[in-house]
Amino acid sequence: VLAVSDLRIGFRSEGVLTAAVKGVSFHIDRGETVALVGESGSGKSITALSTVQLLGASAEVQGSVKYAGREMVGASDRTLRDIRGNDISFIFQEPMTSLNPLHTLEKQLSESLALHQGLSGAKARARIIELLTRVGIRDPETRLADYPHQLSGGQRQRVMIAMALANGPDLLIADEPTTALDVTIQAQILALLAELKADEGLSMLFISHDLGIVRRIADRVCVMKDGEIVEQGAVEDIFARPQHPYTRKLLAAEP
Ligand code: ATP
Ligand code: MG
Repeated sequence: VLAVSDLRIGFRSEGVLTAAVKGVSFHIDRGETVALVGESGSGKSITALSTVQLLGASAEVQGSVKYAGREMVGASDRTLRDIRGNDISFIFQEPMTSLNPLHTLEKQLSESLALHQGLSGAKARARIIELLTRVGIRDPETRLADYPHQLSGGQRQRVMIAMALANGPDLLIADEPTTALDVTIQAQILALLAELKADEGLSMLFISHDLGIVRRIADRVCVMKDGEIVEQGAVEDIFARPQHPYTRKLLAAEP
């Protein structure tokens, strides 16, 4: 569903181009979860953002990122909007993208449904209940008028996942989705993501620096260091027989 090949990302500042991603290639097959791991600043997030070219004006992108065979590098705004609206959704660490504190759950979700699916009124409401149920919010009818601060962190992340599912995506990109949550809630959110993967055949790009989590959720792993993938392979292989010294170092640092 996604094929990234020789991706290069640089940022230009005062005429000087600094390379941040230096020729990265990987692919995600339909229904597969691929994890990007590596230390802070290795280029995981910008690699993920390049799938829909959300990198800002100072970024220069080269190489190829194909979603379902369509090239995203250099794609028109219209194509990118279409893909963002219908095919690829993001979830981030909770404080990164958060719910609007001044809007009820019903309002936040109905806005994204109106935007992406043209749904309103009773139809939108039914779909909101369905989405909230899907992500494990109990008695969703009674929560529609709640504001984000009335929910726990885990519930807010569930609502963020509901929003990401609102457009019926094929590919879900999860950038450190459980980092801000405590361990029990982390496990619940991971279980939810695994369920979505199984039930809806969602493909996933999963970014985390927590190898324990990656081991549980990913099919394949790409290990990034300084803007390059130093090693990639099936999750069992990477954990059982890491080849690159950096991967060994990462695994050795695991508790
Ligand atoms: P973390 O684990 O901390 O989230 P990461 O692997 O996701 O790290 P990225 O956010 O992808 O790292 O950043 C990779 C590199 O690109 C960093 O050196 C960062 O400073 C640089 N970078 C990212 N965005 C920009 C930008 N808009 N302008 C200039 N440099 C940027
Ligand atoms: Mg990041």
